[in-house]
Amino acid sequence: MRPQILYALFRPVETLAGVGPKIGRLLASLAGARVLDLIWHLPSGLVDRRYRPTIADAKVGSIATLTVRVAAHAPGQGARRPYRVRCRDETGEIDLVFFHPNAEWLESTLPTGQTRVVSGRLETYRDQSQMVHPDWIVAPDAIDTVAVVEPVYPLTAGLQPKSLSRALASALGTVPDLEEWQDAAWLQRNGWSGWRASVRAAHHPQAESDLSPTSPARARLAYDEALANQLSLLLVRSAHRREPGRSRKPAGTLAARAREALPFALTPAQETVLADILGDLAAPERMLRLLQGDVGSGKTVVALLAMLTAVEGGAQAALMAPTEVLTRQHYETIAPICARLGVTAGLLTGRDKGKARSEILTRLAGGQIQVVVGTHALIQDGVSYRDLGLAVVDEQHRFGVEQRLRLADRGHQTDVLVMTATPIPRTLQLTAYGDMDVSKLTGKPPGRRPVDTRAIPVDRLQDVVDAVARKIGTRPGAGSVREKVFWVCPLVADTETSDLAAATARAEALERVFPDRVALVHGRMPGADKDAALARFADGSADILVATTVIEVGVDVPAATVIVVEHAERFGLAQLHQLRGRVGRSDLPGTCLMVYTPPLGPTARARLSMLRRTDDGFRIAEEDLRLRGAGEVLGTRQSGLPAFRLLDIALHADLLAAARDDARLILQRDPALKASRGQALRILLSLFERESAMQYLKSG
Ligand code: ADP
Ligand code: MG
Repeated sequence: MRPQILYALFRPVETLAGVGPKIGRLLASLAGARVLDLIWHLPSGLVDRRYRPTIADAKVGSIATLTVRVAAHAPGQGARRPYRVRCRDETGEIDLVFFHPNAEWLESTLPTGQTRVVSGRLETYRDQSQMVHPDWIVAPDAIDTVAVVEPVYPLTAGLQPKSLSRALASALGTVPDLEEWQDAAWLQRNGWSGWRASVRAAHHPQAESDLSPTSPARARLAYDEALANQLSLLLVRSAHRREPGRSRKPAGTLAARAREALPFALTPAQETVLADILGDLAAPERMLRLLQGDVGSGKTVVALLAMLTAVEGGAQAALMAPTEVLTRQHYETIAPICARLGVTAGLLTGRDKGKARSEILTRLAGGQIQVVVGTHALIQDGVSYRDLGLAVVDEQHRFGVEQRLRLADRGHQTDVLVMTATPIPRTLQLTAYGDMDVSKLTGKPPGRRPVDTRAIPVDRLQDVVDAVARKIGTRPGAGSVREKVFWVCPLVADTETSDLAAATARAEALERVFPDRVALVHGRMPGADKDAALARFADGSADILVATTVIEVGVDVPAATVIVVEHAERFGLAQLHQLRGRVGRSDLPGTCLMVYTPPLGPTARARLSMLRRTDDGFRIAEEDLRLRGAGEVLGTRQSGLPAFRLLDIALHADLLAAARDDARLILQRDPALKASRGQALRILLSLFERESAMQYLKSG
């Protein structure tokens, strides 16, 4: 599939001159195992060696390139008396200083009486000018190779800068000249060069400004990556659209009866997004819609009504959620309503084993289960449906792109609805979905009040406990309404055991203040214990739930009015917003107490103050993107978002938007990519390893 002109770029770095297995391994861990990875490894700084003063004029502290005559060698001993080579020019003298040198090498490199060009940082020691370990020592005729601007690259332990620059020089030598795939007018408007020239320019910065992601060379390369991304997404997406779907347009009796069973009416925003979804179901194309709604905005009920519509149309519906806890909660919301309507609901999680599991599978395959709620277990081998009409994926950022589509693959012509509570900023959305249909559920159900959010240093923890006591009383049922408290202790992977100990200790300490009213839930607990703890909290005797972040996603306990987050500085902005979303889910005022350990770094401070200022998840998500890299925003690995080499989606948002429009126009004009620009674009797709998207090119 890969065009021959790109072969050299995809060879292992070991095939480069001067790169053996050892350096090859280091390069692979630094940049990647292929020549192309090395080419994308761009400089992070530069050293300007163009300053060529005389010894007397040279500024102390500067990087200077000097032409000197070697006067005398003075071998030293050990580190305290280094080897010194005295050199002169007509204006003064300077010592070249070497610790633990190889004397033989020094004598041959700096022969007494000869002229040499040396380059390095100038220092003084006891009023004597010196240069410790010059970066370059060459004969005078080679001065032009030294007195230049030298790129500085990120390194890894064990890799010498010179080994890297040698490898890079030979990597750059393999860069082919490729046909231009960008629009000529667009290139000109931006002042961009061709691909090869841009690659070279990116590796040869002449000034600090050339290191900026928005410099012409880097912007051009980033745009290439954005264009490859948008083009391939658009191809996949339009292929999905072309695949026949089924029109599901039942009378809506089930959904109408379910509405009657609900204790509330849908908000106008919920009605709007539901109408979008029902419109998709009724249309003959397959649905692929993203439903974005801030935490607590009421997505579940929208999903339920959509699922019932699919069921009334004679198909099955599945709802996949990322955690056991959330899955059970969904099931408990949905099952009673289904029961009233005579619809059979089922639950499938990783906890179902053996006979119980195979029984559920049989009923799914036979169509006896009409609505199924489950975890990843829903996409494991051996799970099949009689006719899966609608697949809903909740809190989708926990699932990869592939997992989402796997659920849809279980059926024929299955419509797909993905729901997220982490509002995905527009820029991120573009890279992950292209022009996927998006519905936004704005606002909250009526009567919700903003959560009072405070940041409190950990030395005032007692104040927090007192505040909790004021809210829920020191005896159960002291107040008229029984309010509840989430108490979150973070769990960080590398110190999991000690964090767990901290959560347990916190539960015990609270238990002494609030006897018999504290429950503990954490990720390592056996499933049944988790359920029991959550049940005690949701409608039983426990008023405080001490939890590791398992509650982060989706748990709905309307009576919870207070959330305490310990080590708030360890959480990301979006995560804190999610956590805060656990309270303020009824008409009672909510409180969020973020306990932090001072001193706060600038980023943590910005996060906490942002949370105090706004409750708008969309604004918070945009800010989060700005404060952290894009990869981190949605929880690094699970995000299912593509990783970019050159494109920085926070900095290049405008380029990404332009690339989307460009991609659209390209496929409108040349849907088979057959014209000459189309041929060049095929190379671009291969360059960014998106050739699999080419199978979706229209043949005509
Ligand atoms: P999320 O969008 O975070 O998944 P949920 O679907 O869990 O939110 O809904 C949050 C809470 O709001 C639930 O207790 C739900 O019953 C309630 N709710 C949903 N829609 C409405 C509404 N229209 N009026 C009142 N309460 C609602
Ligand atoms: Mg939810």
